[in-house]
Amino acid sequence: TKHFPVRKRLRDFFSRTPAVVHAVDDVSFALRRGQVTALVGESGSGKSTVARLLAQLYPRTAGDIRLHGRSTRVRGGRAFRAYVRRVQLILQDPFASLNPVHTVRYHLTRSLRIHGNAGRTAEDLDRALADLLTRVRLTPPERFLDVFPHELSGGQRQRVAIARALGADPEVLLADEPVSMLDVSIRLGVLNLLQDLKERLNLAILYITHDIASARYFADETIVMYAGRMVEGGDSETVTQNPAHPYTRLLTESAPDPERITGDGAGIDEAAGKDRGQGEPPSLISPPAGCRFHPRCPHAMRRCTAELPPRLTVGDRPGHWTACWLYDPATVAADAPGSAAP
Ligand code: SF4
Ligand code: MG
Repeated sequence: TKHFPVRKRLRDFFSRTPAVVHAVDDVSFALRRGQVTALVGESGSGKSTVARLLAQLYPRTAGDIRLHGRSTRVRGGRAFRAYVRRVQLILQDPFASLNPVHTVRYHLTRSLRIHGNAGRTAEDLDRALADLLTRVRLTPPERFLDVFPHELSGGQRQRVAIARALGADPEVLLADEPVSMLDVSIRLGVLNLLQDLKERLNLAILYITHDIASARYFADETIVMYAGRMVEGGDSETVTQNPAHPYTRLLTESAPDPERITGDGAGIDEAAGKDRGQGEPPSLISPPAGCRFHPRCPHAMRRCTAELPPRLTVGDRPGHWTACWLYDPATVAADAPGSAAP
């Protein structure tokens, strides 16, 4: 859970609301090695906040983040330090994350040194550098070591950022929209690289995206977020092909082309606003009571406006759940209007 205090000026502007942004509430899931988990949502859904919380970039309001069952609640403690070494963040814009005045060699050497993976001798270091570049398929390595970020293409820069993360010998990669700033033509190559690294290095990858079509292609498991809460989760095939939550259905309808791996994410409102799902993601300063999606939901019932739906099991696919009252057996029994669950 992460609530941000709102700065003074903004607070005056929203003077009648509590001065807290409910960026992320009750988000809870597990990452597994050798598996990609996609976190899907619109901008403002809280997905990047989750990435930054997991990278321990700022403290959380409540809750805990554990690695191998070990709590990281004590910032700076031993488990915390082990965690930040093992969990690496890759950002959307590799240009912003690489220092323009330093070469690739500098960036990778620094990562190897910080994490104690540079070896003892100059030969060890050269070998480790060549390994990193080969792993991200920047070959021959000599060609890339002494160049500056601006001399590389966007895709090559993102590969350098990935290599730098690998310099820590991580168990977990947090990839926040890792391809959304790249040319469509090279996105697939970078996703394939991540998939390959997942298998060869047995990594757990959290893949954060607004593009549910790419989650189907790339992720083993998919979690959908709306307005700071998780609304649906399960294996990617099921969630993307048989979505249960009305919001997920809206998302899949606004990404209709199954061949389109990574589109520009034309807004859900443009695609779906004509006859349903009208509206905008709610303010996270005073999120709607009950189900946060109810102001936009075509199936909203009275209880949706008052009671927060719990995670409910969907159908017979193991692990498929959604936070929607349509899937409450009591709702179905009452045959409430608009409860036509698919
Ligand atoms: Fe719609 Fe109600 Fe389900 Fe929320 S709980 S998605 S408002 S039907
Ligand atoms: Mg973001």
